[in-house]
Amino acid sequence: MSLIEKTALEIRELQNNGSVTAEEIAKQFLSQVKTHDGQIKAFLHIDPENILDQAKKIDEKRKQGKALGALAGIPVAIKDVLCCRGVPTTCGSKMLQNFVPPYDAFVIDRLKKADAILFGKTNMDEFAMGSSTENSAYFTTRNPWDTTRIPGGSSGGSAAAVAACEAPLALGTDTGGSIRQPAGLCGIVGIKPTYGRVSRFGLIAFASSLDQVGPFTHDVADAALLMEVISGHDAKDSTCVNVPVPSYLAQLDQPIKNLTIGVAKEFFGEGLDSEVESSIRSALKVYQSMGATIKEISLPHSKYSVAVYYLVATAEASSNLARYDGMHYGHRTAQKKDLISAYSNSRGEGFGKEVQRRIMLGSYALSSGYKDAYYLKALKVRRLIKNDFDKAFADCDVILGPTSPTAAFKIGEKADNPLAMYLSDIYTISCNLAGIAGMSIPCGFTKGGLPIGLQILAAPFEEEKMLRVARMFEKQTEYHQRRPKL
Ligand code: GLN
Repeated sequence: MSLIEKTALEIRELQNNGSVTAEEIAKQFLSQVKTHDGQIKAFLHIDPENILDQAKKIDEKRKQGKALGALAGIPVAIKDVLCCRGVPTTCGSKMLQNFVPPYDAFVIDRLKKADAILFGKTNMDEFAMGSSTENSAYFTTRNPWDTTRIPGGSSGGSAAAVAACEAPLALGTDTGGSIRQPAGLCGIVGIKPTYGRVSRFGLIAFASSLDQVGPFTHDVADAALLMEVISGHDAKDSTCVNVPVPSYLAQLDQPIKNLTIGVAKEFFGEGLDSEVESSIRSALKVYQSMGATIKEISLPHSKYSVAVYYLVATAEASSNLARYDGMHYGHRTAQKKDLISAYSNSRGEGFGKEVQRRIMLGSYALSSGYKDAYYLKALKVRRLIKNDFDKAFADCDVILGPTSPTAAFKIGEKADNPLAMYLSDIYTISCNLAGIAGMSIPCGFTKGGLPIGLQILAAPFEEEKMLRVARMFEKQTEYHQRRPKL
């Protein structure tokens, strides 16, 4: 029986009723990787022997009648920004080419406790800066629906791995859209949890007031499952909030009664592709046919999101990435005459162009004389963006709109135009700035066969409601069941 196109919950069921073993599961996904990853290039690092070992241990545990975790025997691909003990963790950068972490990130620890199979590290834009994986220092990942196109980014490897059925589940991180955008462009489900819902301990920081870890899955039920495993309080991350984690799966099939959907006119502006727009409008009709009320809302400050983000995120990145100087951490140059040349050559050799650009932007925004005009001003506008959402959520359960303005673009199309690249996150960034929850679900395809993502935004810690709203749509449609022909 072929398992690769199945969801994690389906695979779990087949294991529970004795139809398959963890070893068989691992072998099938490894064989899919072997056949197709030469073309897709989702993985930076994968160790088949170790994966089979993990799987055999799970089978052994089951044989002995021991209790098994929620993800027993299920492969989970991991974005290479998350520390895994003893496994190379490069962050898509030459700077960390030889880094092997001595500890596990909190979410990795949770996966291990859930008996999941850690299934390799996935490609990403260097230090999670990018929207296409073209900024990876190693190679560009390809979109499984059209291998001449980007899979999105920065978690493009994780998204492509799930879309290409190389793993049923994956983890990514989202600072300005890096889970939702690649999920949308690869036709799968991706969640950026509320800021504080998931611990970032062991996540290599990009912009600490924005970063969150979240799942990639084929459908909403799997996303609920993975959210249950990774959410929850962790004393090792002081920004992780101690609020109970509901069972996201338990209520998932209960539709929200009297659902009010906010539709922001700012999310349907200039630059929105007409095929994307018509898919989103059709999705809204699906909700209306289930009795939902559509309410026009306004998020007047969202037009400043991209500008605010490129001040706040770069300022934080310039500070977070200061530690990679070849002395404290990271690549050390062979070309050093003195301390200053050792620092600057190590950083110049270790960081790629985009990362250097961000560090320079951020250092400038924080420099004395400019800090008030740029960084502090951006923080004030950030608050206004958050206030807009608070006001909107007073009257609406969720806000719906496009995840991205266009379907997946061609490799190379925006590589030399940073501004065009930055604008591809125009609908996802405000969610991170406001710290709210967001997800993308498949809601259609272009005439050319490229997936289109519907973005669902919810108030802080309302993941349960967000997932139920997503599930309502999924039950009426079949987009989540399609798989690309490789
Ligand atoms: N594309 C955005 C950036 O380049 C978002 C990245 C992310 O969410 N990690 O910053």
